[in-house]
Amino acid sequence: MDDFIHLISDEFPEIYFIEGARNGKYPYSHSLLIEDYIIDTGISTRLLRKLKRKFPINNVLLSHWHEDHTSGNRIFPNANFLIHFNDKYLIENVDKFNDYYGISNTPAAEEFTGLEEGLRLKNTKIEKTFENNDIIKIGDHLNLKVVHTPGHTAGHCSFYELNSKLAFLADIDLTNFVFYAGIDSDLLDFEKSIEKLEQLNIDIVATGHRGIIEGKKTIKEELEKYKLIIYKRDERILTQFSEIKPIMVNDFKGKNFIYKYYTMFKEYEIIAELIMIQKHFDKFLVQKLISPKDNGFILS
Ligand SMILES: [Zn+2]
Repeated sequence: MDDFIHLISDEFPEIYFIEGARNGKYPYSHSLLIEDYIIDTGISTRLLRKLKRKFPINNVLLSHWHEDHTSGNRIFPNANFLIHFNDKYLIENVDKFNDYYGISNTPAAEEFTGLEEGLRLKNTKIEKTFENNDIIKIGDHLNLKVVHTPGHTAGHCSFYELNSKLAFLADIDLTNFVFYAGIDSDLLDFEKSIEKLEQLNIDIVATGHRGIIEGKKTIKEELEKYKLIIYKRDERILTQFSEIKPIMVNDFKGKNFIYKYYTMFKEYEIIAELIMIQKHFDKFLVQKLISPKDNGFILS
């Protein structure tokens, strides 16, 4: 078998973990193959073509609209594409990505457009949308449950196979970076989604940017650790507020509150960081930790 195609368990010979190019690092991601279903198409077009020669793939389940999970859609012109309703519009209108990343008419748009052109993104026609708790029957005995896990995007979904207790969590990716810098991202939803996954009885997990993790206990710990990344950001941002002097989201600009350091995509990262800080402000407001004063916010 090719080295990027991994059988997960001898008990389930029809389920494969498909390792993305560059170990699934952006702009690539990992996939899961179950009989003629693939989840996400970001492994790279080169690997997708290789995979297609070995396996007939007739159905593509998309975890969400982001380019690193969907750039290979055009490799499957005859497949049925499914996605959650909330993410359908974007995948059918890829020219709206920049608006949803909050970078239209900013210097970052150029950085990103170059990348998009490299990935050759195309609109995808969605055959059908799925919803939370839908069961997709695959082959004779596999039942793939859709778990709507919004927060990263509004339609982000995870998938849980009931017999193998294997879950694919897409961009609740259990790495050390949590991303919610979309116009359609929501921090409180993100946390609820992680908690929803903690309630599942998962034996084996794969994510979009990390390999296989096994063991119920380890998986729960990993989910908890992932949530802690958000809580630590909460703390770091909250220490900046006082009871007297109002502050604004823009006061955090370029100060590495979320990105420890900026990379060659600095223009983009500074915008993404501010959008994420805005999500923390939104959360603090809901939790009544801060209140508006003048043009900014103070501690309640
Ligand atoms: Zn994503």
